[in-house]
Amino acid sequence: MADLLVFVVIALVLAALWYLADAQLRSAVKNFLLQRRLKPKLTQQHKLNLPSFFKDRQAQSVEQLIRAVDVSEQSIDLFLDLASLLRSQGDLAQALKLHEHLLQHHGGLPLALGQKVRFELACDYWGAGLLGRAESELQALLDCANLSVHVRKQALKALLDIKQEFSEWLQAIDLADQLTTAKFSAEPDSWRRMQAQFCCELAEQARAQADMGELRLRLSQALRFDPDCARAHLIEAEQHLADGDTKSTLIALEQLVARRSDLALLCLPYFQHCYQDDQQALLDKLLQLQSKQSSLIFLLAASGLMFELGEKKAQAQLWREAMVQLKALTPWRAMLEIVLNEGRAELPRFLQSFAAALNTEAQWHCSHCGAHSVQMQWRCPACHHWDSYEASC
Ligand SMILES: [Zn+2]
Repeated sequence: MADLLVFVVIALVLAALWYLADAQLRSAVKNFLLQRRLKPKLTQQHKLNLPSFFKDRQAQSVEQLIRAVDVSEQSIDLFLDLASLLRSQGDLAQALKLHEHLLQHHGGLPLALGQKVRFELACDYWGAGLLGRAESELQALLDCANLSVHVRKQALKALLDIKQEFSEWLQAIDLADQLTTAKFSAEPDSWRRMQAQFCCELAEQARAQADMGELRLRLSQALRFDPDCARAHLIEAEQHLADGDTKSTLIALEQLVARRSDLALLCLPYFQHCYQDDQQALLDKLLQLQSKQSSLIFLLAASGLMFELGEKKAQAQLWREAMVQLKALTPWRAMLEIVLNEGRAELPRFLQSFAAALNTEAQWHCSHCGAHSVQMQWRCPACHHWDSYEASC
């Protein structure tokens, strides 16, 4: 009998605690909805209050919220805001649970809201690394009739991200085609510049498979999307070099460095290869490029070659002129002047070690996020921007 009494008391206490937890949640939600009616936009204060209630008990609270509040036009923003907060806090499982619940119970809601929920659900899958499911959701969304322009654009962008992740470049080209507003313009927009990069990816695949027809097709396609695509011009120059066509290689390389002087670092080995049997001709070409582009890379290469050819006076004169022309040398100018004027005996050796020191600094950085790398990247591994790497020197 005593055991039965203890059991009944425990059951009553648990029920009371359960009710209190629900009542607390109901009160928080009621206040939140009331504040939203007064101020329809979610204020920073709301954003701060609601998560503090859910802190440390998110799974239980989401479950209670789903039971306590019906999905309606009045409550949908609460659910969406909360799911977005949970996602920003890294709790993708609970964000997913909320969005899946909304998708199952959005029957009476306006069509646009259902589409928004489906898009958010796809973002949860994407964030959780479930790319296949995210892709299916986005594809289903894009197949919807009467899809709002805004959600369609968001879905296309997200699907494009997934296609790039899977290296599905042909589909990526099609998706970017639906996003560009400059399809027939002389000036490409960012989507067309991306399409050119996708074509370059396909061109490099074709080159790896020795499929020269496909390589040429993808290169011409890349240059149609973006006539200034440096990567396509570089692949073209490399292909001329592989075909043994030195004249066309040099023309392509010179056009490339005229467009992007920072790519001198990538082009230099090809110039050196073209003139491998004639060092004096290489030096003349490097000096010509240096005077046109004011590039530190061509200066260093020309200086090194002069050292090898024993042209020490010309080497010192080259540096004197470069000190005036090149901004990159400004921090070194005072020291260089002393050595050029005083240290005559050791001058050639000093210039060599100075050039070597500058060369070790030569590396690449992303102009978008600032990431650094010793190698050129056509797509930044940190921020995933295309063609944002520049030579740091
Ligand atoms: Zn970056």
